[in-house]
Amino acid sequence: MSNQESQESCLFCNIIAGNIPSSKVYEDDLVYAFNDIHPQAKVHVLIVPKVHVANVVQLAEHDASLLAHIVHVANQIAQDAYHGQFRLVFNTGEDAGQTVFHAHAHVLTGEVLDE
Ligand code: AMP
Ligand code: ZN
Repeated sequence: MSNQESQESCLFCNIIAGNIPSSKVYEDDLVYAFNDIHPQAKVHVLIVPKVHVANVVQLAEHDASLLAHIVHVANQIAQDAYHGQFRLVFNTGEDAGQTVFHAHAHVLTGEVLDE
């Protein structure tokens, strides 16, 4: 998929572009973070790189420092929401529960999490 095609058809590219509304938590030049529409914890934020890559493996290959930046942003969100403790999940592939094929980190925090 070319980058232009991705921007037209990809849900998260459209959320980043503001074409689809979202509840923004944080934004900078590299990432956009917003509340998950079906929260699995008291605080459930998705952190999405602005560049369209399909999953966390492609993200790490594209720019490892961008993956590190996502970890940093996750920590900041969890520091603000819940003394810096959080679960960070990247579902990778359909069989693992990935439904949106634009890399994204789930940040789960805000309460004691079930195992
Ligand atoms: P995954 O299943 O790991 O690909 O995660 C996709 C996530 O996107 C799910 O947790 C969905 O609840 C969430 N999601 C889907 N559409 C929206 C939307 N329009 N706004 C916010 N979150 C969404
Ligand atoms: Zn995309």
